[in-house]
Amino acid sequence: MKYYDKVIFELSRPGRKGYELPVNTFGVDGEKTIPADLMRQAPLELPEVSEPDVVRHYTNLSMKNFGVDTGFYPLGSCTMKYNPKINEELCNLPQFTGLHPLQDAETAQGALELYYNLQHALSSLAGLAEFTLNPFAGAHGELTGLMIMRQYHASRGDNKRIKVIVPDSAHGTNPASAMVAGLEVVEVKSRPNGSIDIEDLKPLLDDTIAGIMMTNPNTLGMFETEIVEIAKLVHEAGGLLYYDGANLNPMLGKVRPGDMGFDIMHINLHKTFSTPHGGGGPGSGPVGVAEHLVEFLPNPRVKKVGDKFVVMNGDNSLGSISTFLGNFGVMMRAYAYILTLGKEGIRNVGPMATLNANYIKESLKDDYLLPIEGVCKHEFVFDGLKDKSTGVTTLNVAKRLLDYGFHAPTIYFPLLFHESMMIEPTETESLETLDEFIEVLHKVAKEARETPELVKEAPVTTQVRKLDETKAATSPVLNYKTLKENAQ
Ligand SMILES: *Cc1c(COP(=O)(O)O)cnc(C)c1O
Repeated sequence: MKYYDKVIFELSRPGRKGYELPVNTFGVDGEKTIPADLMRQAPLELPEVSEPDVVRHYTNLSMKNFGVDTGFYPLGSCTMKYNPKINEELCNLPQFTGLHPLQDAETAQGALELYYNLQHALSSLAGLAEFTLNPFAGAHGELTGLMIMRQYHASRGDNKRIKVIVPDSAHGTNPASAMVAGLEVVEVKSRPNGSIDIEDLKPLLDDTIAGIMMTNPNTLGMFETEIVEIAKLVHEAGGLLYYDGANLNPMLGKVRPGDMGFDIMHINLHKTFSTPHGGGGPGSGPVGVAEHLVEFLPNPRVKKVGDKFVVMNGDNSLGSISTFLGNFGVMMRAYAYILTLGKEGIRNVGPMATLNANYIKESLKDDYLLPIEGVCKHEFVFDGLKDKSTGVTTLNVAKRLLDYGFHAPTIYFPLLFHESMMIEPTETESLETLDEFIEVLHKVAKEARETPELVKEAPVTTQVRKLDETKAATSPVLNYKTLKENAQ
């Protein structure tokens, strides 16, 4: 083991320091302002290390992991695109990081203007009347959107509407959010190509339906060509249409959910508009609504009155769903990203994401089983290797890719196929990277035919080999004390 691979507590030496807190010049005396019963009784046990110790420790740790900054990351449904570094620089500007959410709006006009402009940029990209940027994540946006749906029906005294239709191919957060919002989930079947079967949908549309949740393109990357007809049927039945726009990149500059007939949607800023994500955050899941739902948007809202930006509450709002105005750093990155691309750049996002996905799909379908032919959007699904006789599974292929320096695609999702490999290259990758990925996947297919044991044993070059994921989930070791106890 390298010295800096040690747990940071083992590098600790009493009295060693890397940083000294600035002298308190605010005249606030902690001992006087914090009630005695809330004060810490004994000093916190923290590692005591020098700056080089910390820097080397974390740099070494970061190199053991796979990240979008270290290689190609074609994780379907997650849009792991490259995040321009200028966004990081901008959102670290002290003029923004030094703001406090409770300071007077008069003194934070720049930040509020950014929030306001981003709301409007998203509205025009989505074809919807207004957005709130308050939700913290995609799933949180779904919950907010479904609460708006409920509030809308309740405001009309239409209290029978307690069901929401969710296709069987939907992202897992859709039915989960519906349950949390107190709605009953009704599943609608997909056709083999992942699109909704209208004949299956029709009998479900009665006066107990609050709405339908859809992803378009669906999780198989296919565009729902009958969306206008579906919207008409749902609206005629008195329901609303919810659009899961977590991965809006294939649609950017081409089609707008509002124009397709959707009433409510969320966008994952951390997927579509570039923020490093994975590992749990931070994220941002803005929710947009059509005109007739604007009054229900959560509080607080940012509005422009004269030439001033103000923070205000709406009377019919569903209330507050987050602390203050949400994750501001993620909004700053998204705003910078939109301005950097500009109108012309944004128009290229969808076509490039689509071209890249189709290029990989067509190049590999001789070795990998393509269950759905035809042009996909930003992602597509293989049902494992074409030749199943070798016993090499999708899991084996995914692990073998790590040996070649590529992150694995999303595997075993969607559940429509037994050996799903869901590949999303995103719009930010070069032709050379895509070609290398294709070459490696061909090589793995060849290995599966000639030396299947090699593929089944993968990964062999990574920091750790195949992990026991069940044990990691059921008995995680999250702190040094547990690690020490386990070692004894
Ligand atoms: C990622 C994703 C979500 C959930 O977003 P989170 O920010 O992880 O909560 C919802 N729907 C789809 C289609 C997604 O890809």
